[in-house]
Amino acid sequence: MPIPFLPLSVHVLERGWLSANSILFFDDDDTASVVDTGYVLHAAQTVALVRLAMGSRKLTRIVNTHLHSDHCGGNAALQAAAGGAACCTITVPVGELQAVNAWDEDALSFRATGQHAAGFSAADSIAAGDTLCLGGLRWRVYAAPGHDPHALILFQPEARVLISGDALWEHGFGVIFPEMVGEAGFGATRETLQVIEALEPACVIPGHGAPFVDVAASLVRARSRLRAFEDDPKRHARHGLRVLLKFQLLQQQSIDREALQAWFEAADLVTRTARCFWPGCKVRTVFSETLDGLVLAGAARLDAGLVCNAETA
Ligand SMILES: [Zn+2]
Repeated sequence: MPIPFLPLSVHVLERGWLSANSILFFDDDDTASVVDTGYVLHAAQTVALVRLAMGSRKLTRIVNTHLHSDHCGGNAALQAAAGGAACCTITVPVGELQAVNAWDEDALSFRATGQHAAGFSAADSIAAGDTLCLGGLRWRVYAAPGHDPHALILFQPEARVLISGDALWEHGFGVIFPEMVGEAGFGATRETLQVIEALEPACVIPGHGAPFVDVAASLVRARSRLRAFEDDPKRHARHGLRVLLKFQLLQQQSIDREALQAWFEAADLVTRTARCFWPGCKVRTVFSETLDGLVLAGAARLDAGLVCNAETA
């Protein structure tokens, strides 16, 4: 169904938290492009949803705002379904081009976060300052570091529509991953929010959640959240660990507590975060506290030896 404020050639496939939204563009009667493709576990569903929305059009281009597993996990399956790399190209942020084409899982985030993606190659890249033609419209590309140093956002100046990835949601933004290991990220996040405000979008299509139009209110919330994290970086680290653990629960739905702990203790980003913010603590203690936090928030529940996913109201 068309969403007010969005050009008719732009279609949002709203997903959940495990899979980011996909944004589909009808380039003309015959072809379509898509921005972001969800998590690998949902790849078949993504292919089906894109096919249904496209009708008889052919998918000729896949573009990623950034290469987190929940944004590029359907790239390989969608490209294969479209007839392979000769029919459908993949475009990634310039900062990730080399790592993708070497499929360097250490440089990409999948190994460190203990998440998965199906391998793919990119035909080209986009960078801040570029213009991209999608859905018959010209989209300007802006850098959006903070959540991810290589992340990009896309802005359509006539319709004033912003595709924000995880740089701005209606209620917050993605975990500022560099800060979890003591590297700078808060300042970049602040600057990215500034860039978004200066664009004055009439409508934001976020990476997660429905498109929204009260952008000023979302910026107030984002800045207040950022300030709280800057005041207490440990709080942000704790939040980041909960997000990573919740992502596992969303995948598994229910998992043996010991298996979940083993995953936690093996994920490089988790152990680095624990060493950075809880240097005197065993990782298993950090795991227990992280899990307790999720249970208290209603995002997980314990059932005998199992940890089960739970949906907060
Ligand atoms: Zn992300």
